[in-house]
Amino acid sequence: MVGMERADVSWIRTLGAQLPARPWRTRFAPAPTGYLHLGHLVNAMYVWGIARAYGGTIVLRIEDHDRTRCRPEYTSALLDDLEWLGFAPDIAHTASFRDNVHPHAFRQSDNYPRYASALDQLDVRGDVYACACTRRDIANVAPHDAGDEPRYPGTCANGHVDRASTFARRVRIGEELEQFDDLRLGRVVQHPVTQCGDMLVRDRHGGYTYQFAVTVDDMAHDIDVIVRGSDLFASTGRQRALARMLGRTTMPLVLHHPVIVHADGTKLSKANRDTSLRERRSGGASADALRGEAAFRVGLTPSAASLTLDDVTALFRA
Ligand code: GLU
Repeated sequence: MVGMERADVSWIRTLGAQLPARPWRTRFAPAPTGYLHLGHLVNAMYVWGIARAYGGTIVLRIEDHDRTRCRPEYTSALLDDLEWLGFAPDIAHTASFRDNVHPHAFRQSDNYPRYASALDQLDVRGDVYACACTRRDIANVAPHDAGDEPRYPGTCANGHVDRASTFARRVRIGEELEQFDDLRLGRVVQHPVTQCGDMLVRDRHGGYTYQFAVTVDDMAHDIDVIVRGSDLFASTGRQRALARMLGRTTMPLVLHHPVIVHADGTKLSKANRDTSLRERRSGGASADALRGEAAFRVGLTPSAASLTLDDVTALFRA
C-alpha cells in the first residue's frame, strides 16, 4: 500500500482552542457525480472526527448543483455508504437519516430559488454582468497561474453582452486580499482577483457554479467551520470574497487537510475503481479497515491499522 511519511500533526494541540466556544456547525458536502472513494472517506474522517471531538454539529449537504453531472443513484449510494461507515449527520434533508430530518432542504438541486435571489442581490448593485465567453476563448487569452485555472480577462466586463442572449453571469471581484488563519496551516493570504478574475456564478445553461452555490449554502446553513481537502485551497479565498459581497460578516473558520494522491501525484477520481468504497466493501473490506487505510494514506497515523469511529475522534483530540 502506498502510504506517506507521517504528517506533522502538532496543529491538533491547538485545534480545540481555535474552534468556537459556543455551539458550532460544520458540513459534509459531497457531489453525487460518482461513488464515494477513499478521498471522501478522508474528508469524512476529518469532519466527523473534529466535530465529535469538539462538540460540532454536522450538516449533510448533497452538492448536486450541476444537473448535468449528478445522478440520483449516486446520491442513494453515498447515503448508503455513509450509513455503512457509521458517519451519521446531525442535520440532513434526506429521509435516509429519518431521525434527523430537518425542515430545510440540504440538497442543492432544491436550492435554486436561494441562488437566484442571491444573484439578484448582487445584480441590483451592478456587480453582475452577462458573459458570452467560452472556456476556449478564456484559455486562449487569459494568463495562467501555475496549476490554476486561467484568469478571466474581463472581456465582457463592460456589459456589452445582451442579457437575454445567455444565462451566463459573472460577478465583479474586488482587489481585496483574503487573509485567514487555517486551523492546520496557519496564516494564508490569497488574492482571488489575480487568481481567477471575475467569477462565473451561473453558466450559460442556467446552472449555478460550485463556488456560488457553496458560498450561498454555507451562509444559509450557518456553517461556522469548513473542513475540506487542500485540493480546494484556492476556492476558499474566492468563496470568502463572494460571501463578503453577499453580506456575510463573520467568516467561517477553515481547515484544509491533506488529500490522497496516486504514486504519480495525480488526484483520485471517482473513476478510480481501486479506491471506490463500494468496490472495497463488496470485496470484503470492513469500515474499520478502510478508515485505517485512509488515515495512513494522508499521514494521520503511522500504520494502516484499523480504526473504529471512536479511534477517529481520538486522533483529533490533543
Ligand atoms: N462538494 C465539494 C466536493 O465534492 C466539497 C465541498 C466543499 O468543501 O466545498 O469536492
